[in-house]
Amino acid sequence: MMSIKIIKAAAIFIDSCLVENKAIAVNMHTGDIEKIAAAAQLEKEYPDAGKEDWGDLVIVPGSINAHNHSFQSLLRGVAADRPFLEWRDNSLYKFSPRMRLQDIYTGALFAFTEMMKCGATTVADFFYLHQFGSESDEAVIQAANDAGIRLVIARTMYDWTGAPSGYVENVETAVSNTASLMKKHTGGMVKVLPAPHSLHAASPEMIKAGYRLACEYNTPYHIHVAEEIFEVDQVKKEHGMTPLKYLDSLGVVDKHMSIIHGVWLSEDEIRTMGRKGAHLIYCPSSNMFLADGITDIPAYIRHSVPIALGSDGACGNSRISVFEEMRMVSLLQKAKTCNALCVNFHDAFKMGTETGGTVLDLPIGKIADGYKADFVGISVYDFSMQPLTKKGQQFLPNLIYSMQPTAIKRVAVNGRTTVIQGHLVNTTESRVLEQVKMTMQHLENE
Ligand SMILES: [Zn+2]
Repeated sequence: MMSIKIIKAAAIFIDSCLVENKAIAVNMHTGDIEKIAAAAQLEKEYPDAGKEDWGDLVIVPGSINAHNHSFQSLLRGVAADRPFLEWRDNSLYKFSPRMRLQDIYTGALFAFTEMMKCGATTVADFFYLHQFGSESDEAVIQAANDAGIRLVIARTMYDWTGAPSGYVENVETAVSNTASLMKKHTGGMVKVLPAPHSLHAASPEMIKAGYRLACEYNTPYHIHVAEEIFEVDQVKKEHGMTPLKYLDSLGVVDKHMSIIHGVWLSEDEIRTMGRKGAHLIYCPSSNMFLADGITDIPAYIRHSVPIALGSDGACGNSRISVFEEMRMVSLLQKAKTCNALCVNFHDAFKMGTETGGTVLDLPIGKIADGYKADFVGISVYDFSMQPLTKKGQQFLPNLIYSMQPTAIKRVAVNGRTTVIQGHLVNTTESRVLEQVKMTMQHLENE
């Protein structure tokens, strides 16, 4: 029998409008939105339905963090303000080999619960700490499950031996571990994608193997491309081509591809991505924090490349909020182009919600029939959302430009409430903090 829950609120944000007289019927078995209609009509249609009232909150789609490295939340504040490679060596490479399985779990639980409190309902964790093989991935999956967040594991394939040994696998092992994880987790709250790390950390054979897995299982694959200028120089020197051109020569640029960053691509390379249906995952705050440069977002828009947003790891950004990235994409691009129209608040909102769903190939990021019931409840009485006059035309610009996390009162993923009154439901903040404290004692003492 179908189990339905009817969710009511002051308003629901649908197709850029505040709709005041409707409620949402959620199929609690599948976590899908079954129907959106007047509450009275839904109650008549589903007389046995459970009822949930979100009071004076406005329901918006949950935001989608399309790029994060959860373990990096434990390294926030470490090696800040250093050049990229120095930052990498003094934070990631120094501490990640010390992480035990419980530390990987704790880092993920900390990252996922914090970003959920900031309104993220799905996260793609680009995950490469494989010192415990697939048990490492399972620890991250457990953390997502305990937090209640929807998880995409971009299961990293990495064979550059200059990195800590726990990152590194040969092509054969990486393929078999990734494939078995992909087969194991299908259709639920967890999805697994192949993610050859980058041109500097994955061999051409590894990249092609990741691409083949994506084709075989019909999923996207993720890869960092041209985050820093050093990668462009290195690829040019080794292969006589720029990064995206080189990837194209390997035959891996098509609709399966999602590149992260894409800061240093030429317009010609961006055109190729558009023509071949590839996607961009953009992390504006991380690019600013790590002094990477500024991605040419108007060029990606011109060539119809779908753009999703990511916070990147917390030690390469410091904040892990997608609403923050929506603000940043718009502000940073305006500053670069001196054109106030280049990315507007509608564009930014779409990147952080609906297009995130497109890029991760999941029915999320939109409040519509058949989409997942992933919602965020916003208090318009928080100072940061005011003023809001009768027509409500300030709602979206305020959501993107002025909202603080204090306005995010409630979160539901797959129809189930995970944050209420701004606090975690499935665990408590003090429990998460206690675990973080124990992990940090271990990391510092070793
Ligand atoms: Zn990254």
